[in-house]
Amino acid sequence: MLLGPPGAGKGTQADKLAAALKIPKVATGDVLRAAVRDATELGRAAKSFMDRGELVPDDVILGVMQEALARPQAERGAILDGVIRTVPQARGLREALKRLGRDVSAVVVFDVPEDELIRRISGRVVCETCQSTYAGLEPGDTCPKDGCKLVRRPDDEPEAVRRRLAVYRSQTEPVIDWYREHGARVISIDAVGTPDEVRDRLLRALGWRPQS
Ligand SMILES: [Zn+2]
Repeated sequence: MLLGPPGAGKGTQADKLAAALKIPKVATGDVLRAAVRDATELGRAAKSFMDRGELVPDDVILGVMQEALARPQAERGAILDGVIRTVPQARGLREALKRLGRDVSAVVVFDVPEDELIRRISGRVVCETCQSTYAGLEPGDTCPKDGCKLVRRPDDEPEAVRRRLAVYRSQTEPVIDWYREHGARVISIDAVGTPDEVRDRLLRALGWRPQS
């Protein structure tokens, strides 16, 4: 399980780890979208909340997660990316995994200084049309793919990022202690560096050799 504040690079590392270890990446948004697309029972339940503009409740998300982890592709394990944000969700996930005879084997905590996170997130812009995100371009520049206007998401403004980080500290950081108390291996890694540097650090911390 990868845990860390917004902007820490969890999604990128989840992809790299999944490729290096040849196990699937499981991210909440992806499994929810897949369940809705496939119109499974839980997917239809999730859609009814989304259509009303409501948050999908934890039990529906955990159900969808359990289904994703029960698939043959996840037989050897999976990388959980941004799945758990609160202690009640961590408890719920443990129950769901218990039903599959499994548990979280390692929790990797991404350590990035707050000013670096604010710089990273507020430094990215998104295309109004194709939703591609870019670093190193400015609001008002044009999208390299389609020439449409690039903007900064309201959620990515420095003040909004500070609020998101405060929510992470109050709701998600307690999850790290919860896992420690419940016997999971918790590993902190320095997540500042190029994506490949961070991946190699991560694999070493987990005791796995990077495969090229
Ligand atoms: Zn675009």
